[in-house]
Amino acid sequence: MSTQKNSSGNAGWTKRVNRSLLLREIWLDGPISRAELAIRTELSPATVTSLTEQMLRESLIQEVGKGVSRGGRKPILLSVNPGARLAVGMEVTTERVLGSLMNLHCDIVESFEAPVRLESAAAFVESLAAVVAGLLAKDAARAAPVVGIGVACPGLIDVETAELRYSSSLGLERVPVGRELERRFGLPVAMHKGMNMSALAENQLGAGKGEDHLVYVLFDRQIGLGLVMDGRMYMGPQGGAGEIGHMTVEINGPYCRCGNRGCLCVLGSGESMVANAARLVGQGADTILATYCNGDPAQLTIEHVLEGIEAGDRLARTLFNETVEYLAAGIANVVNLLGPRLIAIGGRIVRRHPDLVVQSLYSGICKRALPGYRDEVKVLQAELGSKAAELGAGLMAIRRYLNVEGVALSKRAQVSS
Ligand SMILES: [Zn+2]
Repeated sequence: MSTQKNSSGNAGWTKRVNRSLLLREIWLDGPISRAELAIRTELSPATVTSLTEQMLRESLIQEVGKGVSRGGRKPILLSVNPGARLAVGMEVTTERVLGSLMNLHCDIVESFEAPVRLESAAAFVESLAAVVAGLLAKDAARAAPVVGIGVACPGLIDVETAELRYSSSLGLERVPVGRELERRFGLPVAMHKGMNMSALAENQLGAGKGEDHLVYVLFDRQIGLGLVMDGRMYMGPQGGAGEIGHMTVEINGPYCRCGNRGCLCVLGSGESMVANAARLVGQGADTILATYCNGDPAQLTIEHVLEGIEAGDRLARTLFNETVEYLAAGIANVVNLLGPRLIAIGGRIVRRHPDLVVQSLYSGICKRALPGYRDEVKVLQAELGSKAAELGAGLMAIRRYLNVEGVALSKRAQVSS
């Protein structure tokens, strides 16, 4: 491909295209020499020199030392100046909209959050806009141009138009998030399912660096799953692939709100663990959990059950073991289906008890996964904590700005986190 030749008589346009081509290569593969850039982009050395000089003057890129000589002088290497551009990454939960402003290396420079409003589509968009406005009002947002907005949202999403098609947990459908935010802020909007954004972030910045076959599993009140397959986010044609919560693990099991029976989310989630605890406390079970909730089972939380485990409470531990056994069975089905090499576990429960959760899930998965798969698969705690989805969303906005959305994730960017 030689964009140099595709000038159509419009020098300004050609220059912009060539600049963005160089910036994209420097972001993906920097530190990189000018000579290497010329080879990769098929631009002439003179064009590379002149355009990189311009980008250096604008502080969009920087010189970061010298590379290996191939006979002659050692070449000077170029990398992106991370602070030269900023992006907004947001995560929508059923309670809040969490937002971060990050640089081109995905270092978070500011955060802002607001309650999510779910009474109408318009109110929902307002709550997202409030977070964008809150971030853009920060001093840090004036230090460099903001180039895009990424949104991580639960539900089915039209990723082409950034429209929320349907979300059962938010109780919303057909919300033109992309159109509305673009109209207000004049910035391009990328929106994806939250789990995919967490998987992307863990793959690029966290536990799954360098791994092309990764499954991200959220183990919290809700459970969820995001997939990176063959170095690409796998979303499926509906943009919502990976609904592990509605995988059937007990054909005559309890009913789920989706209408099916025995879904994993009613047997192997934090919510089901707490519901079982509440039922047993209500029946007068002998457990410390009864004192934690002052005798009112409706007040029980995940934290209470985890505290109970730490206090050596037998019932809390049994409930945890049962929950994890179901979750491990669900993940083992995924392992047998897709043969991933890494399962990264995120969410509050693993953050509080990393070894217990990772080891319990690993042994549960090994019990059920086929030998060839279980010998290969690793189970690790996710590294990015509660910021994973925001980081993934911001990274998506950056990838869109740099026009690398279609480039395999395995082509590493020089991200630092
Ligand atoms: Zn279900």
